[in-house]
Amino acid sequence: MCSAVSRKFIVPCPLRGSVLASPEADALVELVTSESTLSMGEHRGRFERQFAAMAGARHAVSVTSGTVAVQLAVEMLDLEPGDEVIATPQTYQATVQPLLDHRVRVRFCDVDPGSLTVDPASFEALITPRTKALLLVHYGGCPADMDAIMRIARAHGVLVVEDCAHALGAGYRGRAPGGLADLGCFSFQNSKNITTLGEGGMITCDNEVWAHRLRRLRGNDYDGHLSTSALPGEDEPLLLPWMKYSEGVYRDTVHRIRRSGTNATMSEAAAAVGVVQLARLPELAALRRAIASRLDEVIDGYSFVTPQSAPAGSTHAYHLYTCFAETAELREEMVLALDRGGVEIQLRYFPQHLLPEWRHRGHGPGECPVAERLWFSSLINLPCHPGLRLAQVDYLVDTLDRVLTDLNGPAPAMLVAAGARASGS
Ligand SMILES: *Cc1c(COP(=O)(O)O)cnc(C)c1O
Repeated sequence: MCSAVSRKFIVPCPLRGSVLASPEADALVELVTSESTLSMGEHRGRFERQFAAMAGARHAVSVTSGTVAVQLAVEMLDLEPGDEVIATPQTYQATVQPLLDHRVRVRFCDVDPGSLTVDPASFEALITPRTKALLLVHYGGCPADMDAIMRIARAHGVLVVEDCAHALGAGYRGRAPGGLADLGCFSFQNSKNITTLGEGGMITCDNEVWAHRLRRLRGNDYDGHLSTSALPGEDEPLLLPWMKYSEGVYRDTVHRIRRSGTNATMSEAAAAVGVVQLARLPELAALRRAIASRLDEVIDGYSFVTPQSAPAGSTHAYHLYTCFAETAELREEMVLALDRGGVEIQLRYFPQHLLPEWRHRGHGPGECPVAERLWFSSLINLPCHPGLRLAQVDYLVDTLDRVLTDLNGPAPAMLVAAGARASGS
């Protein structure tokens, strides 16, 4: 387990999810020694344009974190009391926590046992006339089964938000996460596949009205802006700032009403580094995939562990490398043996619906049996990040092979006993 105590591992959990080097440093030196603004300048615009192009979305709106990205994306859903939202339980808390601020009924949707992403059939079964949206995650960088999910969502008028915090570098049938649903949310936090100096986020969408609402919500820079043309979705141009509170200017449409807003503006420094990191994404993603394919090779040799499986025609981004042990006992042995061997293991994520804040709202065990079974008795995440040196990857692969051979060794008896205990409980 990833522990707070300082213990040296030969193959540690990532201290950073990305690699930064002289190109990022050069971009910062250039910015710092220039006279240009450090906020709301050309770097932010460039990063957003390039990001939108990469994701295949018409708009990309940068913010200060993935958490804020999801919060603002959820604002776009215009949730009303009594609405229902379907959400994956197998994710980091930031995917679903904004729903706690809305008086909606949340229905946690079970996951596919091979991919840990939303199971389309379970999703469809949870839809009611009150269902407004689905919040899903591309778990660990494994694309969800988006064709099936979007077909169901469109048929029922359900909006879909994809949490792409793990999915930078992934592909799905010729397209990219962030362009597969109605809204996409990204994180550039320290641990993610690229980083904007430790914190950062992005929202993608095609809807122009949402893009304008998002830009207004993420910044406090709106009051002073003059425009001689109307914004999409509005029929009048903006008036002079000192006139905008007069009667008649903010009449009826929801998105004209000034909300509390926030300042979640990505700094120029973060955006400048983001531009460089984005250009390096193919190279960084290839490093993750190379490690993953070596782990796959080892795991393919043992029948009692299975790697996570991505949908046909998709490319996994391997933010997390995930595999499944056949029984809880095997998982326990494997994690302990890897830990003893100097391989640091992190397990991600505790099912959201079992956390106190959701239990408090009536959620509990049995709601998502597959997600629960996999978390409590099967899933393992192995180190897989571009910060690992080749010697560390070699060590990881050898150690994994040795651990699995040992588990296989005294086998039949042990496996039979483990299987019997598992099925008896
Ligand atoms: C990291 C993460 C977030 C939140 O991103 P931050 O930038 O850390 O706020 C949201 N969803 C998932 C799935 C994440 O892993």
